[in-house]
Amino acid sequence: MVSENRDQLAEALYKDLRRPAYEAHITEILPAEYEGGYMLQQMDTWLKPVSADTYHQPQHMLGDVKIHKAPLGVALMISAWNYPIRLPLMPLVGAIAAGNVVVLKPSEISVHSSRLLTELIEKYLDSRVVRVVNGGVEETTVLLKQKVDHMMYTGNGTVGRIIAKAAAEQLCKVSLELGGKSPALISGSVNQDHLSRVASRIVWGKYLNCGQTCIAVDYVMVENKAYERFLLSILEAVFAFYGKDSKKSPDYARIISERQFDRLKKLVENTKGNILTGKTDEWDRSTLFIPPVVVDDVGFDDSLMSEELFGPILPIIKVDSVDEGIKYIQKHDHPLSLYFFGDEKDASKVIANTRSGSCVINDVLMQGSVHGAPFGGVGPSGVGGYSGKASIDEFTHSRTVIKAKTDFPSESLESVRNPPYTGPGTEW
Ligand code: NAD
Repeated sequence: MVSENRDQLAEALYKDLRRPAYEAHITEILPAEYEGGYMLQQMDTWLKPVSADTYHQPQHMLGDVKIHKAPLGVALMISAWNYPIRLPLMPLVGAIAAGNVVVLKPSEISVHSSRLLTELIEKYLDSRVVRVVNGGVEETTVLLKQKVDHMMYTGNGTVGRIIAKAAAEQLCKVSLELGGKSPALISGSVNQDHLSRVASRIVWGKYLNCGQTCIAVDYVMVENKAYERFLLSILEAVFAFYGKDSKKSPDYARIISERQFDRLKKLVENTKGNILTGKTDEWDRSTLFIPPVVVDDVGFDDSLMSEELFGPILPIIKVDSVDEGIKYIQKHDHPLSLYFFGDEKDASKVIANTRSGSCVINDVLMQGSVHGAPFGGVGPSGVGGYSGKASIDEFTHSRTVIKAKTDFPSESLESVRNPPYTGPGTEW
């Protein structure tokens, strides 16, 4: 389905987010396609019952104890608009492979992608296995009242709580793929040559899809020593990627809606930081254009630190030490992703002293492209994870199945459990 419709999918993404075709392919279309192929190749292995460890447990040694990956049943998947092709399709692949049937509710906000996805799924997939229901809050509220066996939601934490409550009503399994403020912490030990590499990685991951990526760097904390050089490197990378006039760049996407545009504008209007590039007079509501915004001298109490930005705004904060950055992260919600740039020793310290959905050292976003590792958050950034084998684990119940033997010699072993409890070893 995906390989036969690559161009159409890219076109829909362009219409929704003015997503450059190359970006559409590498971040959404190819990963969705790869996930399908990978799953087809591996699913028989991953779904095979595995023998349980009965080591040192003689009472089980003669039986057959297996763990089966059993389907949950009906999975309801409510998806988001920012990656409107990969976000529904990647978990869908795993849920079907695991033997479930799926009711998919794509985002009503990414209109073109969701419409195309609906058409394609109806054309290519068996309607006994996947049904698409389109709509917004009203329709989703009705769906949440239906009896299902699994609910999966991708989006913000406020709605995440509504979904968790609906799942609690039914006591069904729930997966929540949420967001939050994902930090990047930069050690002062990063040398000059390296800083420009660090900056170009951060700029790539931040402004891709106009900042509307759940694992994008939300804000950067830079140790004093590297601060000034880092600012210059960030600006250099922004202009190298998108030119002096990013509005003209064919490689720069747009904001999804006026609602998001207005939300971001208010945050930037209220900042006490120093806007180095991307002042609001360059913004254009009629075309949903927001240039790359870089804000320096941002305080922890700034408007830009009050909520997940989810747009092309990069606040940069000066910290005295890597420890100060770690402390700030510890005091706030576990982020979906955590990025650290620095040496091995500090990296180990960051990993050991923080919690986050994923952690990448010296790069950004790459965890989103590992099909063999779970993609998900922890605590306020999410519950559960998916991709490859992790999807099989997420969309199945690990069912313990024991096939006991009825013939000798298990009888003699069994007799020790029967009353009357009078033999040797029963004197407790
Ligand atoms: P959204 O508000 O569009 O919500 C997503 C889905 O929830 C849609 O299908 C929508 O119809 C439904 N929905 C909205 N309000 C609802 C309600 N009151 N009741 C029931 N259903 C409702 O999405 P959003 O919050 O704007 O998406 C952005 C957030 O999603 C960010 O926080 C981002 O970090 C996060 N995100 C996370 C991931 C991930 O994989 N962890 C991926 C993408 C986005």
